[in-house]
Amino acid sequence: MINNKLPLVDLHRHLDGNIRPQTILELGQKHGIALPGNDLDSLMPHVSAVGNQPSLVAFLEKLDWGVKVLVDEEAIYRVAYENIQDLQQDGIDYAELRFSPSYMGRFSHIAPEAVIDATVAGVQAGLKRFDCQAKLIGILSRSFGVEACQRELDAILSRQHAFVAVDLAGDELGFPGNLFEPHFKQVHKTDLNITVHAGEAAGAESIWHALERLGAQRIGHGVNAAADHKLMEYLATRQIPLESCLTSNLQTTTVSSLAQHPINDFVEAGMCITLNSDDPGVECTTLSKEYQLAHDEVGLTAAQLAQIQRNGVQAAFLSDGERQQLLESKLNN
Ligand SMILES: [Zn+2]
Repeated sequence: MINNKLPLVDLHRHLDGNIRPQTILELGQKHGIALPGNDLDSLMPHVSAVGNQPSLVAFLEKLDWGVKVLVDEEAIYRVAYENIQDLQQDGIDYAELRFSPSYMGRFSHIAPEAVIDATVAGVQAGLKRFDCQAKLIGILSRSFGVEACQRELDAILSRQHAFVAVDLAGDELGFPGNLFEPHFKQVHKTDLNITVHAGEAAGAESIWHALERLGAQRIGHGVNAAADHKLMEYLATRQIPLESCLTSNLQTTTVSSLAQHPINDFVEAGMCITLNSDDPGVECTTLSKEYQLAHDEVGLTAAQLAQIQRNGVQAAFLSDGERQQLLESKLNN
């Protein structure tokens, strides 16, 4: 279902939501961390979302074991490096990997600046070794509150050349976007782009807010735009990209089944839809599988999926020159 003449791009992929179960096991054993399982079979149910979870927050708890084993910079480096290897294994040409420095350092109490440095080092080593491209997005974890997000933003801004954008993620219902307007005002003063998780757990008003008050250039998920035709028209007219993640939306119970997912309506409305993996390690998915699901379960055609691949390139936080190079790299294959 993937058109090999077009780049395969993943714009919404959490590096800290893609920690291999095998790595969790090895790091846990190496550092004497009591894990909920002593082998892969017994560990898997605790680190992966099998079937629908009761809520977004319940789904997010599945990510915690991966972060609990990040006891030092070496562990962070390893996970970042393996994330790049995973991109190549999935045939991804370009990805924007996002991570929350405070979340990754939550259990080890490693400072967010040090988390960023170790992550960047692991990513750079991976990019030298594996044949793919990647850029980084810094996440503000809204679930930790306003002040913690300011601390996290300070760390990101102190390393801003390592990033192409800032994102807001976590408990959208408990910590609505209006709490974070001061943070994004600061981002506006930099060259960094903005993408925001919105319309996933909360409604269309959260998407409006992200666009109008936080300055979002892209929307993470945006599923609940389906309830607001004026918003769909707004998104379509301005070609504001939506970062859609099918399996994730199912597992977080944002949609009750893939047949209920509004992505078909979004495509029909001419919106700029992209397909992404979100937390592939926790979801037990790959981007290739997401394209297959979009075809088999959602009914998108090969032509529509090719357009989605093009949208991914168009929506990427790349310079025009980099975008052109990415397109040409496939045409010459
Ligand atoms: Zn996400």
